Amino acid sequence: MVPEFQGRNLVIATMHGKDRVMRSLLEQTLGVKIHVTKNLNTDLLGTFSGEIERVGSAEEAAKRKCELAMEETGFDLAVASEGSFGPHPYLFGVPVNEELVYLFDRALDIHCIGKSISNETNFSSTKVSDSNTLLDFARMVRFPTHAIILKNDLYKPTTIQKGISDYDHLLEVFNRMKSRCGIVHAETDMRAMYNPSRMGVIEQATQAMLTALTNRCPSCNSLFFKLSDFEIGLPCSLCALPTQSILAHHYACRVCGFKERKLFPKNKEAEDPMYCDYCNP
Ligand SMILES: [Zn+2]
Ligand SMILES: [Zn+2]
Repeated sequence: MVPEFQGRNLVIATMHGKDRVMRSLLEQTLGVKIHVTKNLNTDLLGTFSGEIERVGSAEEAAKRKCELAMEETGFDLAVASEGSFGPHPYLFGVPVNEELVYLFDRALDIHCIGKSISNETNFSSTKVSDSNTLLDFARMVRFPTHAIILKNDLYKPTTIQKGISDYDHLLEVFNRMKSRCGIVHAETDMRAMYNPSRMGVIEQATQAMLTALTNRCPSCNSLFFKLSDFEIGLPCSLCALPTQSILAHHYACRVCGFKERKLFPKNKEAEDPMYCDYCNP
């Protein structure tokens, strides 16, 4: 329980059942009363299936969802999340899912973010010409626990069926679309309630947000003693020269201005020579 949040109303901005993984974490850590939006159409801010493109960053979209949830309910405390999918920055052909959780507290003027990245995602799409290709795709993307979308164009579909989660329905929609449009694209439905793999990543991002939020300033005890910068130069365990790995985190208090430098934030006092530009150029 956190005295600053104890008993306050918090609204979760979602229309895709994300409250299932956020609710107990938020309730138990902060002591808030949880509400869920009833009329929020977060799809207006962008969909994964291409009909509406997201404008701006994931952070801006999540903040906007918080504001809409506050307007709907009149509460001054909201949480929203936003997912992104794409290729892994280093590993070719591996998709990753990044989830961002945003808490906006209008009373305390706090904007706190938590993130989590995972390659445990089924994010994928393919053009399907026959039912065998479709069934192979379905097996690969963990259907039917994870739903599938069928549409007639990857980017500008005029016919689209979302949330397909049983085999009969899948084949029926496929046959209908194939005979009417000729071309069918299958893709994973990334909306949280249709995609259990995402739910786990959203839970981790919620935990990361709560860890940042409940970190208190050692000087004035204010909440959200904030990570403001990081410093590279963790020494190599072999030659002791600085590497590109993180040596220290810098924190700053948003209330009293107190600053702190914490060495070895990843509990590692030296880096593997594998990451050293001198030992392993
Ligand atoms: Zn302080
Ligand atoms: Zn070295």
